[in-house]
Amino acid sequence: MNVPLILSQFLDRAVRLYGEKEAIYGDNKVLTYNQLNKRVNQLSHGLKSLNVNKGDRIAYLAPNSIEMLEGFYGVLQVGGIMVPLNIRLKPADYVFILNHSESKVLLVDQDLYQLIQPVKDQLTTVEKIIVHYKNDDTNETGYDAWLSSFSAEKYEREYLEEDDVCSLLYTSGTTGNPKGVMLTHRNNYLHALSTMHHIRVNDQDTLIHVLPMFHVNGWGSPFYYTANGASQVCLRRTTPEAIFSALEKYKATVLHMAPTVLNTLMQYYERYTPRFEHSIRIVIAGSAPPPAFVTRVEEEMGWEFIQVYGMTESSPLSTVSTIRSHLDHLSAKEKYRMKAKAGYEMIGAEVRVLNELGYEVEPNGKDIGEVVVRSNGVMKGYWKNDEATAAAILNGWLHTGDMGTVDHYGNIDIVDRKKDIIISGGENISSIEIEGILYEHPAVLEAAVIAVPHEKWGETPHAFVVLRDKQSTTEEELISFTRENMAHFKAITGVTFIEELPKTASGKIQKIHLRNDYWEAKG
Ligand code: ATP
Ligand code: MG
Repeated sequence: MNVPLILSQFLDRAVRLYGEKEAIYGDNKVLTYNQLNKRVNQLSHGLKSLNVNKGDRIAYLAPNSIEMLEGFYGVLQVGGIMVPLNIRLKPADYVFILNHSESKVLLVDQDLYQLIQPVKDQLTTVEKIIVHYKNDDTNETGYDAWLSSFSAEKYEREYLEEDDVCSLLYTSGTTGNPKGVMLTHRNNYLHALSTMHHIRVNDQDTLIHVLPMFHVNGWGSPFYYTANGASQVCLRRTTPEAIFSALEKYKATVLHMAPTVLNTLMQYYERYTPRFEHSIRIVIAGSAPPPAFVTRVEEEMGWEFIQVYGMTESSPLSTVSTIRSHLDHLSAKEKYRMKAKAGYEMIGAEVRVLNELGYEVEPNGKDIGEVVVRSNGVMKGYWKNDEATAAAILNGWLHTGDMGTVDHYGNIDIVDRKKDIIISGGENISSIEIEGILYEHPAVLEAAVIAVPHEKWGETPHAFVVLRDKQSTTEEELISFTRENMAHFKAITGVTFIEELPKTASGKIQKIHLRNDYWEAKG
């Protein structure tokens, strides 16, 4: 008999095997797995009382918190679909997503309620808003009081098929309007099994959630840490101070983060060198970490670095940079160079690089093509957008829109997004490669490269640079630096110095805004 792969099984296992172990820390509270389970059951009973049925959408607007995590399991037990909302959007964006997803109930953190209150009347499908924590000013139901009015008895789960949708995750919108990605129980379940194997999650692990849970990386990870009876720490603020102090307090073993956040963490470390026996086992990052970061994390901080590659549409991960037998015999320098690539296809994923004619490129680490993925994690489709789904998944293969190379070991290197690649004099230039070089300059704190028009070459690379504290350099010096360190045709031709790079809430650099800035400056 086939048993459907349902995510609630992960919590059930942890409760049976690790009932009295610390499951989650947040807001100066701690819950054991038994306590978490009770609240999850109360939430499921509560949602049922609101007539939430299988397939209904339940939206969350909350920072990483106990309330958010219990929502995962409480919503899924009643067969609901979770719609986690990015906490850094504008009220109008919430109107769009809540109406587009046709959400029935909205659970919102007290501190974020002000983003919803002004647009409440424009929500066409939301029947009930529940505010986390008691807050008399809101006139909405307070969460704790509401929750405690329901039984903590085991909630009899709705019968679900593994292909039932568990979440609607709206994409980051780095390249345009966000789309609602439908992930199924099977997607997240098999993605969790594969990821926990590759990063060796176990019951001695303590994870500090640095990535937001409303984004796909933060959304997927609670499943594999819960399943293994690990502990999870939620931070409301993820400043370097807060992360280092949590590292010390909770003896954390794993961090998943965006390279931009890792960068600020390394800055802080260099400046203050927090002195304590760190317990970190691995730090995991996607989103094109510059090669210089890999060396710094491993050599200066003494943490093992793992690069992963993925996207919302594939649950997210498809590749991982660790294959020990490929790395162990290499010199440290060579090893870092290999780990600076996105890595090897994960179990359950097939990853290929195709040329324009749809054939696989030569595995020589040089020929560039589009990365396509066929995996257990690939989404069911975009919510209410068959056209976009048909354009993204062709013959079962997800076309990622990312350009990459593959070497004879099967190590994939993401060169750039198709939309960001710079075509200069007929040559493809990777903005990510140039950024990697700029990060090696001692004065550069952050760098992002975009294509700008050029009379002779069609396009040419232009860098936006944030300088390190008390450091200086000039446009000419940075141009020379890239000319000295890479082929001349790839060198940048201009620099704009700015205070800060525009980033999404998950820490991704928004090049779309930099392009606008460039044109505005040009007048
Ligand atoms: P939108 O699709 O709304 O424009 P987005 O693509 O930024 O937003 P995500 O799904 O969060 O939304 O990000 C996935 C993208 O991030 C990938 O397609 C890829 O471009 C980039 N990425 C992720 N991991 C890596 C990596 N290891 N190296 C290079 N790029 C990466
Ligand atoms: Mg995308």
